[in-house]
Amino acid sequence: MRKKILAANWKMNLSATEAQEWLTQFKSGVSDQQLVEFRLYAPNVFIQHLSEDEEMHVGAQNVHPADFGAFTGETSISQLKSVGAQSVLIGHSERRTYFHESDSFLKEKVDACCAHFFPFIFCCGEDLGTRNGGGHLSFVKKQLEAAIFQLNPQEVSLLTIAYEPIWAIGTGQTATTDQINEVHAYIRSILTEKFGENGANVSILYGGSVNQGNAQGIFSCPDVDGGLIGGASLNAFDFLELASSF
Ligand code: PEP
Repeated sequence: MRKKILAANWKMNLSATEAQEWLTQFKSGVSDQQLVEFRLYAPNVFIQHLSEDEEMHVGAQNVHPADFGAFTGETSISQLKSVGAQSVLIGHSERRTYFHESDSFLKEKVDACCAHFFPFIFCCGEDLGTRNGGGHLSFVKKQLEAAIFQLNPQEVSLLTIAYEPIWAIGTGQTATTDQINEVHAYIRSILTEKFGENGANVSILYGGSVNQGNAQGIFSCPDVDGGLIGGASLNAFDFLELASSF
């Protein structure tokens, strides 16, 4: 079953006090009837505290594939689990660009998540030059091939995809619903061909300048199962309001 997911990616924003205020505001506005699964991808330093709230799905924005060792500044899956993280983002374009994370390194992270049975959102998406040159579909396919094609059917249950065209992240420039539909339908066809019914049931989120003004159009696309939200997730009420756009 494809789940509807709204995932907040705070990136490197908010103080401890602001994080607590966000949670309090979120809790005051969220209702039991919500048909959407909310997730919060917070900086690691806040995860333990935020995940004390058992109803909140709190995840990490990054992970190292090794179980332990001399990797200063990094965090393993077991460590994330030990503070209550329930999932992790892999392959965000900011990690790929600023931290030079390669497809093969991302595959190591995916394999580590599978070994630990730890759910993950795999992010993919093209840059503007690739989009303008018409190579966006093959670009995205290559990203998927490189890092998730090795999954077995059971492991596919750990996978959520976020399609995030790089040119739309944090720029205020959103992809059109036609552009989003095209790529989401294509990703679903690839997953279905590769993994059968398990692949067809993977949730595919859109990310890239989603806000209250454009969410309804985006979330009504047939192959869009939710969103990975950066800027518009920093205010709890703005984030919550996006759920009414499904
Ligand atoms: C993101 O961080 O994944 C993202 C989509 O950011 P924004 O919503 O700000 O474009």
